[in-house]
Amino acid sequence: MAVLVQRFPPVPQVEEDLRTLVEGDPGLTLTASIQYLSGLEVRYDPSSDGPGQRLLAWVVAASSGTNLWIRGVLSTYRIGDQVPITRFGGVTDDSEAGTIEIVYDVEACGGQGYWVMDVAGSRVSLPGWLLLAHELTHAWHVLAGTRMQPLALEELIAGADENWVRSGRGLPLRSSRDRRGGTIGSC
Ligand SMILES: [Zn+2]
Repeated sequence: MAVLVQRFPPVPQVEEDLRTLVEGDPGLTLTASIQYLSGLEVRYDPSSDGPGQRLLAWVVAASSGTNLWIRGVLSTYRIGDQVPITRFGGVTDDSEAGTIEIVYDVEACGGQGYWVMDVAGSRVSLPGWLLLAHELTHAWHVLAGTRMQPLALEELIAGADENWVRSGRGLPLRSSRDRRGGTIGSC
């Protein structure tokens, strides 16, 4: 049981997003294993400290009884062949016992990006690595047994956790009241 990056293109972007999350910490490795032929196992032995490092370290440590798959997809991807991934940017599915799946748009709406609202009422960027961090907070809640119902409440808590990561990087904080977001261009 492990954190795994699905081994189809675009794996390099997922790896880059994970490296950005941990600020380039060399303690992060993606390893091929015979046990998980379709995935690269994420291992993380932190050598630096910050919210992003702690988030990934917690998730990796807590995933010992669960397979957490991270799938980077293109902006044209549709969830269940129906809903465009660009409606959400990313999703975290825990409907199957013993498995969590994060799917997120590694192309950032064809390179144009996603926006969310900050505490000052402005549209601010949600870059891919932070989108992945947001989904990892949902996965963390699943692993810790604290994922909330209804979804709106879970999103508030994930937003607060995302702000913890944002604050560690000096990025504008997301509004807890105005939860709007979207794509910057059409994709
Ligand atoms: Zn969310």
